[in-house]
Amino acid sequence: MHPLLPSGGGLVAYSDVRPFGSVYADAAQPTIKKKKVVVLGTGWAGTSFLKNLKDPSFDVQVVSPCNYFAFTPLLPSVTCGTVEARSVVEPIRNIVKKKNFNVQFKEAECFKIDTTKQKVHCRSIQNINIGGKEEFTVDYDYLVIAMGARANTFNTPGVVENAHFLKEVEDAQRIRRSIIDCFERASLPSVSDEERKKILHFVVVGGGPTGVEFAAELHDFLHEDLIYLYPDLEQHISITLLEAGDHILNMFDKRITAFAEEKFQRDGIKVQTGSMVVKVSDKSITLKERSSGETKVLPYGMVVWSTGIGTRPVIMDFMKQIGQGNRRVMATDEWLRVEGVPNVYALGDCATINQRKVMLLQSDRGDAAKQATRLDIEKFKSALSEVDHKMKSLPPTAQVAAQQGEYLAQCFNRMKECDENPEGPIRFRDSGRHRFKPFRYKHLGQFAPLGGEQTAAQLPGDWVSIGHSTQWLWYSVYASKLVSWRTRFLVIGDWGRRFIFGRDSSRI
Ligand code: FAD
Repeated sequence: MHPLLPSGGGLVAYSDVRPFGSVYADAAQPTIKKKKVVVLGTGWAGTSFLKNLKDPSFDVQVVSPCNYFAFTPLLPSVTCGTVEARSVVEPIRNIVKKKNFNVQFKEAECFKIDTTKQKVHCRSIQNINIGGKEEFTVDYDYLVIAMGARANTFNTPGVVENAHFLKEVEDAQRIRRSIIDCFERASLPSVSDEERKKILHFVVVGGGPTGVEFAAELHDFLHEDLIYLYPDLEQHISITLLEAGDHILNMFDKRITAFAEEKFQRDGIKVQTGSMVVKVSDKSITLKERSSGETKVLPYGMVVWSTGIGTRPVIMDFMKQIGQGNRRVMATDEWLRVEGVPNVYALGDCATINQRKVMLLQSDRGDAAKQATRLDIEKFKSALSEVDHKMKSLPPTAQVAAQQGEYLAQCFNRMKECDENPEGPIRFRDSGRHRFKPFRYKHLGQFAPLGGEQTAAQLPGDWVSIGHSTQWLWYSVYASKLVSWRTRFLVIGDWGRRFIFGRDSSRI
């Protein structure tokens, strides 16, 4: 038994999950009260926090509707069967069982956060016939919100009903089945050639890294595997990638963008830039050309929507409650503390560091303020707004989320130590120092797989590498980043299977 656990009857007191209306038994209160940490979400940020948390003086409750961690960078590979869905997920209980202190997992979704009572309201999500949805509350001393984001449709009519998203493992599995459905349907004798062309027209909306990687994977699947299984259909296949901006992969170096556009052209993937999707019906997409305002209708067989992320409704409600209702994304400070609420932290895609405030604080700390005494105040203001403009928000990536999770866990691990010896910068408004150093993101580079065993990489120092050798770098980096030896073994096995036998086209 853990030294801090009471010897009998104490378990009730540690378990702070209670049905509504239940009463606490005071007699069962433990003598040494552990601080309760509640983690919402088991994605990149939540899992990284959990894996790095080492201090046994916390009592940790994890709540998430997913009882696994998903390695999202490999989801495009799951859509085409290059790797299997189960190879990219790690059961969260495998991670929990390795902790040497009390960590409990609840498969449920949080639907409300009550900061006045320091409680989160949760609801079970299991689809079983016994009982309805269970509701319960979990008390916290520290709350870590890592609930990620949802796909953003920009309120475009028909997207939710007719398009596939590529956000969760289930989405990738649905896409895989849908591709095969299109081919089987197009093979039926009653279908006309005109209809076949429509059914085998695959449309990807969004020319960001996910949309581009999916289009490339799909092209490989169609041309390396499916055309041999459905030889009569090859002439009817087409892929269109729609992007509202002027170029695809516009967050990458121009050389990568140009290479990707040329490669897609060579591969026969139609890249249509400068067109906004205004409607998605069950059979066609309506586009509006940005330059001419002209409207076009594109019939399709399957559409995948990948145009970025939006805030989850539960986070929106929380933001309204804490006075951040006028923002698009929840704001935190440099220590990942949610602005205006004590002991609540937010990491990953569900939050953003308020960069303007960071600048003002830095100026408070003296850097820019020194300039203000030398320069006139107008110059200072314009310098500040320029820096502010340059300091864009951190990108919503796994890299940022994982680093934030690790940073926060390190802070929690050293909480007592840093209470006594604060290591952060000097406080400007109060006396003394901040307890911790602020979070600093280290960019390690980013990949854009482009199909045909070619990948583009933009590495630190704006070093660009493109081609087959970069694909091998991609394989090694992703294999090393997988969360466990089990998933590493499975993914490498899947890659090997694909090289030897090709991708599986069964509709399961
Ligand atoms: P997530 O990983 O989305 O996790 C959110 C967690 O919150 C999930 O466990 C979810 O179940 C849980 N949750 C949701 N609602 C609730 C609720 N109500 N209550 C409790 N829990 C809840 N980034 C890269 O850096 N490199 C890449 O190559 C890359 N490729 C990507 C490919 C795809 C297809 C996608 C979709 C994303 C990719 N990303 C990549 C982005 C990266 O996946 C995200 O930035 C990252 O997942 C964000 O981590 P997170 O922990 O904030 O959110």
